Amino acid sequence: MSFWDKMINSSRRKSPWLLHFDCGSCNGCDIETLACLTPVYDVERFGIVNVGNPKHADILLVTGTVNFRNREVLKVLYEQMAEPKVVVAIGACGLSGGIFREAPNVVGGVDKVIPVDVYVPGCPARPEAIIDGVVLALDKFAEKCGQQEKKR
Ligand code: SF4
Repeated sequence: MSFWDKMINSSRRKSPWLLHFDCGSCNGCDIETLACLTPVYDVERFGIVNVGNPKHADILLVTGTVNFRNREVLKVLYEQMAEPKVVVAIGACGLSGGIFREAPNVVGGVDKVIPVDVYVPGCPARPEAIIDGVVLALDKFAEKCGQQEKKR
């Protein structure tokens, strides 16, 4: 791995950028996720920045239930993110389909479509739990950066 690759990984580790995707939630978990970015919870103190482009993101936060229509969008967003990347599934819907799990158009939790690294339970998941999940995601991200550096 080149000097520049190591520099980039180190910068990504210290200030990871996250993308939030609502996969079809009732908006309960979205409101709590966005609350984490407000001055009250201030997730930016960990160097985290919310971005709108998957190509710029290191961490993907997914809320809501995956259905047959949005699963392709979820897959494309995930594939557009650069390696290494970490996925956090938020709320009962993101974990298993939640209250919608038996609906005919529902595929289930996020891990039915893309690999999930961190699971944050709750209905809705509380901001404190989401921040906990993001901190865990930072550890996973650092771990993946280390593995990538060893491989090259
Ligand atoms: S887990 Fe609960 S609050 Fe979150 S999206 Fe599902 S129904 Fe809404």
